Amino acid sequence: MKVLVVNAGSSSIKYQVMDMTDESVLAVGLVDRVGIPGSTLEHKPLGKDEVVIKKDLPDHTAGMELVLEVLVNPEYGCIQSMDEIGAVGHRVVHGGEAFAASVVIDDQVKKVIRDCFDIAPLHNPPNLMGIDACQRLMPNVKHVAVFDTAFHQTMEPAHYMYAIPYEAYEKFRIRRYGFHGTSHYYVAHQAAEMLGKPYEDCKIITLHLGNGASMAAIKDGKVVETSMGFTPLEGLVMGTRSGDIDPAIVFFLMDKLGMDSQEANNYFNKKSGMLGLSGVSNDLRDVLEAAASGNERAQIALDVYYNAIKGYIGNYIAKLNGCDCIIFTAGVGENGIDTRADICADLDALGIKMDIEKNKVRGKKVDVATADSQIRIFIIPTNEELVIARDTYGLAK
Ligand code: AMP
Repeated sequence: MKVLVVNAGSSSIKYQVMDMTDESVLAVGLVDRVGIPGSTLEHKPLGKDEVVIKKDLPDHTAGMELVLEVLVNPEYGCIQSMDEIGAVGHRVVHGGEAFAASVVIDDQVKKVIRDCFDIAPLHNPPNLMGIDACQRLMPNVKHVAVFDTAFHQTMEPAHYMYAIPYEAYEKFRIRRYGFHGTSHYYVAHQAAEMLGKPYEDCKIITLHLGNGASMAAIKDGKVVETSMGFTPLEGLVMGTRSGDIDPAIVFFLMDKLGMDSQEANNYFNKKSGMLGLSGVSNDLRDVLEAAASGNERAQIALDVYYNAIKGYIGNYIAKLNGCDCIIFTAGVGENGIDTRADICADLDALGIKMDIEKNKVRGKKVDVATADSQIRIFIIPTNEELVIARDTYGLAK
């Protein structure tokens, strides 16, 4: 069976076609500027040149229509007819407390996705637009929702409740949910193989360090705790998100700067993090470069970024009562040689010792700990699309 994986954002649609007989990728693509003049589609079929198509696409249905046209194009398509697509897997950011696993989408599932609009206003509405568009164009195949939050649903109340009035949970479901679940899931299972132990016997700390960043502590095959919370704003310092701060800063700055809640949301989600602190960029490479050429604010931003990650490593070793491995993944985790080295520096008291030479790699699955390190240090390229395709195939076949 061939599976189409769809990740619909507010103005973009990422897609991938996979042949599940050997899990090969037949094509990947990105539709950009959906609903904005100047839309483009970049399509890369396996073994052929990339194709770029410019065409205004007023909405997600128009975007998906173009994707389907491209997939069956005799010149640069990857299938002969849409009948070859046996199922569609959709990335959905928020499944609330309703889903601890992927599900075949029906009206009830769509209602839950819609009910989560309030708590994931940037992600769930476009995710649902993508689902609606695909269902309209492919009514005869199964559509599966794979949730970013599902993997973290194993957390116990001690790890997901906030110490605010309980009614906030009862009334508004305010609790820690966690995100990047498919990525944490994928690399944790890969790590168990590298450790040569059953996944259920491993104590694992995953570091998904990309533009968005989160960590998870995993024990007995369950997520014990993860750093993102009610929304993806909590936890580590990110490209443009503050991560953990004293919540009183929010009210203080709303007063001082005359911000309403929407503006405050924007301030802490879009203007903070590495961008806000360094004043240079949200892209870690730019901040590293600026710091190397003497920019003090950039260096402070890096130090705050490393400090937060080190803190979570210690926190999670305590909560797991030990650890077999830490895993670096996503853009920074897979490629940031100096960043990984700085994070692991001076953690030998916790049993983490990096081999600086082995660490000089990018995007490879490898153990970069010294032979005598108590805790292994793995770099594992993530593959969220593969998790979505496998779940979709499993539910559709
Ligand atoms: P992602 O969100 O997973 O695509 O990751 C994007 C982030 O990866 C950006 O902040 C990039 O700066 C970062 N990144 C990519 N390559 C490197 C590198 N060689 N060193 C440090 N960060 C990198």
